[in-house]
Amino acid sequence: MATTFKTFLITGVSSGLGQAFAKGALEAGHRVIGTVRREADAEAFAALAPGRAHALSLDVTRFDAIPAAVADAERQAGPVDVLVNNAGYGHEGVLEESSMEDLQRQFAANLFGPVAMIKAVLPGMRTRRRGHIVNVTSMGGFITMPGISFYCGSKFALEGISESLGKEVAAFGIRVTALAPGQFRTDWAGRSMDRTPRSIADYDAVMDPIRAARQNKSGHQPGDPARAAQALLRLIEAEHPPVRLFLGSDALGLVEQKLESMKTELTTWDALSRSTSFDA
Ligand code: NAP
Repeated sequence: MATTFKTFLITGVSSGLGQAFAKGALEAGHRVIGTVRREADAEAFAALAPGRAHALSLDVTRFDAIPAAVADAERQAGPVDVLVNNAGYGHEGVLEESSMEDLQRQFAANLFGPVAMIKAVLPGMRTRRRGHIVNVTSMGGFITMPGISFYCGSKFALEGISESLGKEVAAFGIRVTALAPGQFRTDWAGRSMDRTPRSIADYDAVMDPIRAARQNKSGHQPGDPARAAQALLRLIEAEHPPVRLFLGSDALGLVEQKLESMKTELTTWDALSRSTSFDA
């Protein structure tokens, strides 16, 4: 079957998964509007495929700027067929040591920005009765890990919104998928990570080894962003795309463990769960 060339809007194409997604889509012949935050990144992105790679300067936490920026990009590059909400970062910090500002910043980038992007493309997709919204969540939006609770919380929230939104817009021909990577070799655990300094000695024994292991893993993660890009291209061509797609065998293994432990817990507490309904 011949590929129909599409217009993608991908947030965060300066590095990592977003850059790989954009390169993969451009190499496959698609048009890509890619968001960046630095002029040098805009130039590098536009040079990838002159005329088909459109750089859009945007910080996704500037919610008020999003509608006009997206409208302007669509005027230049055409209506968006596929939105990939990829931009985001990881906050690493023990919950008790982390501030409410850390939490607000994390949710602004990983949840509120993506929702503002969705709101900017939805009216057009609804009018055209087609479109695919791909929200890059994380295996941390399904399993959890100590030391990144704000990050996991933001990704759980984006998963919930994705799944619920999918049910609202399916009748308009719009598909919504949460794309949940395991560990990929990007700048996520390196220059992009926001680390709240350790301050409460009580947590040293648990948290110091976890933090050190995450830092040492950076640059050696098993996931290949270029392969994730090929998976994205397969996903957007699917007639019935999934509500959620995990990327990476590390993610799959941990998700299977979580599903098993959830099932065990459900069974263990079955009677108490049922005890709260009125008698029939
Ligand atoms: P990355 O290499 O650090 O790339 C992050 C991208 O997001 C960069 O282009 C960055 O732009 C952009 N970005 C961050 N905050 C932004 C904001 N407020 N406005 C606009 N752009 C912003 O990391 P990555 O791994 O590719 O991350 C991409 C997505 O995958 C994130 O949502 C991340 O949470 C998710 N993810 C990653 C992994 C992993 O193991 N790598 C696993 C699961 C999920 P700048 O260059 O301007 O900073």
